[in-house]
Amino acid sequence: MKDYKKWIALSAVLWGTASICSNVVRGVSIVQPTLKKDYPVQPVPFTKVHLDDEFWAPRIETNRSVTIPYAFEKCQETGRIDNFVRAARVLQNDPTLEDRHIRGFCFDDTDIYKVLEGASFGLSVKANPAMEKYLDELIAKIATAQEPDGYLYTARTINPEKPHKWAGPRRWINVKKLSHELYNMGHLYEAALAHYQATGKRTLLDIAIKNANLLCEVFGPGKNEDAPGHQIIEMGLVKLYRVTGQKKYLDLAKFFLDTRGPGDGEYSQAHKKIIDQDEAVGHAVRATYMYSGIADVAALTGDANYVKAIGRIWENVVSKKIYITGGIGSTGSGEAFGRNYELPNMTAYCETCAAIGNVYWNHRLFLLHADGKYIDVMERTLYNGLISGVSLDGKKFFYPNPLESRGQHARSPWFGCACCPGNITRFVASVPGYVYAQRGDVLYVNLFAAGQADLTVGGQKVQLQQQTRYPWDGQVRITMEPEKADEFTVKLRIPGWCRNEPIPSGLYRFLDSSDEKPSVQVNDQTIELNLEKGYVTIERKWSKGDTIDLFLPMPIRRVVAHENVAADRGRVALQRGPVVFCLEWPDNKDGHVRNLSIEDDAPLNTEFKKDLLGGVQVITGQAIAVSRDPSDQSIKKSPQQFLAIPYYAWAHRGQGEMAVWIARSEDVVTLPPIPTIASTSKVTVSRGTGMASCIVDQAEPKSSSDESNDFYHWWPNKGTQEWLQLDFEKPYEFSSIEIYWFDDRSHGECRVPESWRVLYKQGDQYKLVEDASGFGTELNKYNRSTFKKVETDSLRVEIQLQKNYSGGILECRVE
Ligand SMILES: [Zn+2]
Repeated sequence: MKDYKKWIALSAVLWGTASICSNVVRGVSIVQPTLKKDYPVQPVPFTKVHLDDEFWAPRIETNRSVTIPYAFEKCQETGRIDNFVRAARVLQNDPTLEDRHIRGFCFDDTDIYKVLEGASFGLSVKANPAMEKYLDELIAKIATAQEPDGYLYTARTINPEKPHKWAGPRRWINVKKLSHELYNMGHLYEAALAHYQATGKRTLLDIAIKNANLLCEVFGPGKNEDAPGHQIIEMGLVKLYRVTGQKKYLDLAKFFLDTRGPGDGEYSQAHKKIIDQDEAVGHAVRATYMYSGIADVAALTGDANYVKAIGRIWENVVSKKIYITGGIGSTGSGEAFGRNYELPNMTAYCETCAAIGNVYWNHRLFLLHADGKYIDVMERTLYNGLISGVSLDGKKFFYPNPLESRGQHARSPWFGCACCPGNITRFVASVPGYVYAQRGDVLYVNLFAAGQADLTVGGQKVQLQQQTRYPWDGQVRITMEPEKADEFTVKLRIPGWCRNEPIPSGLYRFLDSSDEKPSVQVNDQTIELNLEKGYVTIERKWSKGDTIDLFLPMPIRRVVAHENVAADRGRVALQRGPVVFCLEWPDNKDGHVRNLSIEDDAPLNTEFKKDLLGGVQVITGQAIAVSRDPSDQSIKKSPQQFLAIPYYAWAHRGQGEMAVWIARSEDVVTLPPIPTIASTSKVTVSRGTGMASCIVDQAEPKSSSDESNDFYHWWPNKGTQEWLQLDFEKPYEFSSIEIYWFDDRSHGECRVPESWRVLYKQGDQYKLVEDASGFGTELNKYNRSTFKKVETDSLRVEIQLQKNYSGGILECRVE
């Protein structure tokens, strides 16, 4: 028992979780691993950090009391829980089970695991008998869906003869590609550990161990040597190693990393051996989970090549591939990293899960190197491009988090592929675990949030109190309450944004310098700021009531991007403290913001509005508005007040324009185009909804691979027949159509289609147009097809995608 507690204290929440109740593990063979090597810095677990601030505490409470129950409800409603129930009935040879149809995606099991993990984190800090009972019942369902040898994957078990199309006809044969078997299992382990650490119950942990033992039999040198198509099993296995002491789990995690690549494609980072990789490529969530797994294994094995590889990749990301919001993965095609400096705004994918993965990765890099530059990146993601992923009421979610909108974007109550909501539930619950960290008797203060922490520093109990209104105010007071006076070191992070370094790389820079400098006082005595790796070090004997006053000046800063980022050229973003701002339609005249320019010398003001969007700081100032006179379409310019809100808080008041990057001069603004028959039509498509209107947005593509231009795609469908339809307000005469195909052959899976044709509606039926001049599929141009004049209120285009490829459209015009 004592060993167990020691282990918990030791491993804490690297793992996002921690400490324990008293009814733990009686008579079970949990062996504390002898960790000869580990992360030199250890986080203070979130169970020891109690936030009561204005910013995070309400979010964590909403997550606990609203989002988690809501997400479970959605899992129930969408058949995700039923998948386990039906799989169990198959295993029990239940003759009354008729419905063996596999619904949804083969990775839907993970949604339940993720919410279960979030709910367990909630239980770690606040008892909730009803939730605990619910989890017990849920885990019982999961247990009965596990096959006798430990295999757990409902997408096959429900119907082994006809499993999910991505699952492959037999176990494990499609692991490299899309089966997601190991992805499901990785999330299972993460949930199991969180549940075990919260409740001390082994129910889910034993399911995970049985499953992991099966993996150890199946995978390894000379056995199945395939690398997981979607990473996370690596992190999951490391956690399992930490709790059981079974080195075979760590070895398997390392095996899964080493067996990856070369020559298996960038999408799942299998194009090279991991130790040879130096650029962030492919699916961004897969990538960050892998980089996090590499950090974990490196910490435990001391593998220097691993550390070098993720160091090189990190340099690439922060110097060329991260948004000012901390979002990563710029392209929706493959949910992937784009090319260097390819950071379009309206089409920015920035998946919420990728933001979470980016936090996991940067936090681990900090634990390896004790360098504040990683926390700078983490904080940027945390306050901007991550929490934008969930609405203030906790019931709506962004999957992509774009930096510009014409009004086509809105948060959604759920998704068919619902990875992001579940990830939010588990992440938000663990936020207090990112505030402090320790290396022996050195205490790192990484984030600023009011609340209390119960620490043990150098064997001494220390209670620490933070008082601050961060991120709205840069004044932070820390009060120390050691049990008895003792010497230890406090390292206070001075954020990069406070040191004229928005991101540690030169990808972004502040336009003007600030004279205001940060300052630190200990018991009212100002101390010199000798920064080392972004920290000011205070070594002293701390007594009860000692105070540290940290002042981080928060002037409004104008940020500009590196010249190579085409989308941001001639544009400026506004930042104050760690918070990035945007202009949104409800706060600005006539609902337009993309037509505004903010000149470099325009004075800016800031104030706190407590009744706006849950209480936010806003920035105001004068812009120049460029608009068209409705009578003659002539261009006019006029001064206009603008109001900017924190980016994370946008999209709560209906759909409309939004922009983070604002023109610095009138010639860069985006004017709404003059409406056309096509642009006023209603666009529907064969896959997905909502985003298709971009194909008539009149934004001129620069080339077929112009991902900075909003495009519609059918990915991940490949080789399928697809369609799009334009419905008009009334019948018009048409005799031509022009299509600009999207094609990302340099790095993605979209190609021009194999063929296409055009139909028009006559009565209730669609008929082929006659005398068509041809249906071109040329790159980098409009493919114009003329045909015999038709009068109709609906045109339909049918598209046959090339075998093994997807496709997309940048723009469509009709005449
Ligand atoms: Zn996601």
